[in-house]
Amino acid sequence: MRVRGSDLWPAPLTRDLVDETHHGHRLRGYPRDARTLGDVLGRAAARVPDRDAVVTRERRLTWRELRAEVDRMAGALHARHGVKPGDRVALLLLNSVDFCVGVFACARLGAVAVTLNTKLRAPELEFMLQNSGARILIMHEALWDEIAPIRATVPCEAVYVAGRPPAGTEPLDRLTDTRERPPAVVVDEDDTAFIMYTSGTTGRPKGALGTHVGIVTSSISFERCMGLGDGERTLVAVPLFHVTGLIGQLLTMAWLGGTTVVMRTFDAAEAIRLLDAERITYMIAAPTVFTMMLQQPGARDAGRSLRRVGYGGAPTPPDGIVALREWLPQATLQNAYGMTETSSPTTLMPFGQELARISSVGWPVPIAELRTVDVGTGRECAADEVGELCIRGPHVVPGYWANPEATAATMGDGWMRSGDLARIDADGYVTIMDRLKDMINRGGEKIYCVEVEDVLCAHPAVLEAAVVGVADPVYGEAVKACVVPRAGVSVDPDDVRRFVAARLAKFKVPREIAVLDALPRNPNGKVIKSALR
Ligand code: AMP
Repeated sequence: MRVRGSDLWPAPLTRDLVDETHHGHRLRGYPRDARTLGDVLGRAAARVPDRDAVVTRERRLTWRELRAEVDRMAGALHARHGVKPGDRVALLLLNSVDFCVGVFACARLGAVAVTLNTKLRAPELEFMLQNSGARILIMHEALWDEIAPIRATVPCEAVYVAGRPPAGTEPLDRLTDTRERPPAVVVDEDDTAFIMYTSGTTGRPKGALGTHVGIVTSSISFERCMGLGDGERTLVAVPLFHVTGLIGQLLTMAWLGGTTVVMRTFDAAEAIRLLDAERITYMIAAPTVFTMMLQQPGARDAGRSLRRVGYGGAPTPPDGIVALREWLPQATLQNAYGMTETSSPTTLMPFGQELARISSVGWPVPIAELRTVDVGTGRECAADEVGELCIRGPHVVPGYWANPEATAATMGDGWMRSGDLARIDADGYVTIMDRLKDMINRGGEKIYCVEVEDVLCAHPAVLEAAVVGVADPVYGEAVKACVVPRAGVSVDPDDVRRFVAARLAKFKVPREIAVLDALPRNPNGKVIKSALR
């Protein structure tokens, strides 16, 4: 089955689409008067200079102030380090003004922001810093324990620290107290704006190349399909280093001249308070975020200013959608399906269909084309037949950083293979049925089983290991490990858990560890994971 968003959404959202070429592919795009992140920031600062741009617990910056701070950081990065188009600058920052300034400062220089997950441990970060070849690292002091052991082995020529700088690093203030002006650089919309690492089903994480056109396109998809308008105010309850917070919120607000209210890390009680204190109108987050917010006392009376609500990044259980509907009768509710590789949204539920189509993720956004393909033969599926979901459009990343093999395998023919199994019905509604990729989705945080299995097998007492997702009432899924001990030794699950925690982010550490005599295997020797759940 093959569908185009432009054939589904009402005419006002689709009639002005234009044909354009990106990275050799002929695609459909939205008309737009700002094409790069630098243009988008300049436009907001010119149009609504005195409106709040970013609000945190400590600071409140208008668009004019944000642009001035971005220019100072871009000027300093250029003057002190000669940062030029294409250079990588890594950000290891909790949600903060510094993160927002860093992303725009890179864009202003045509440089690439490598947005690192703040929950990762030293060995994981070491790979990403080495692989991306980041020249500069901008980070928060609270995360220094993960950088100290790898400082000597990563290529960064300077490390700037927000907070108290440890020896050998510089205070981040040095990058904003300058009078240097950034140079005028020409940035193309097909240039890379950020690298975001996603795990792979085999081998090491892959750096998805987010482009300016991908970001701007996705901001317009959110604007059109969610009916977002001028003066929107959003609350970020998810990390800014991932596409939902970064593109779906911060950069979409930049596109609209709206306001982004940022929590340093998610706190459900604080989120409920901020909904009313900051008159939040728009939110998009993983379903787990809303589940946790609704558990707070007084939650049901809060959020009356919310008009537009999206949920995605993980399956939303039907009763979660019903609970949202009861909580927020005044708001539109839309399931959003997307990936890092699609710069956020690929499908969105049309208005008013969230209960009638409760298990669906909606229609492809207007510029997206989808098809379902039989996994064995590559034949295009019929309507309602389940196959791998493949995605095309200007929002799809052109590839992975320094990884031509993964790029060719995933999107070589212009269609991005999602690794998700889906069904598309005759009305164009997409339903995600299962995953082809061996991944666990813990409340929107993705855990590739092979990464955890590799670490488990490195434990001296473990002979072999298999990792599976098991049901969890809050997170949807949790990590379960099954390990087989080496001959003559016993395995202590707590010891194994500590071993994993020293090497991988906490959310990847198995909640449950079962010690087995052998793993169940099929005649080809493949582990039968369904038997382990
Ligand atoms: P990420 O690249 O981390 O954003 O992960 C993308 C993956 O999250 C997709 O390939 C899906 O497996 C899953 N996902 C994203 N949105 C949804 C949704 N609305 N419903 C179900 N699964 C989703």
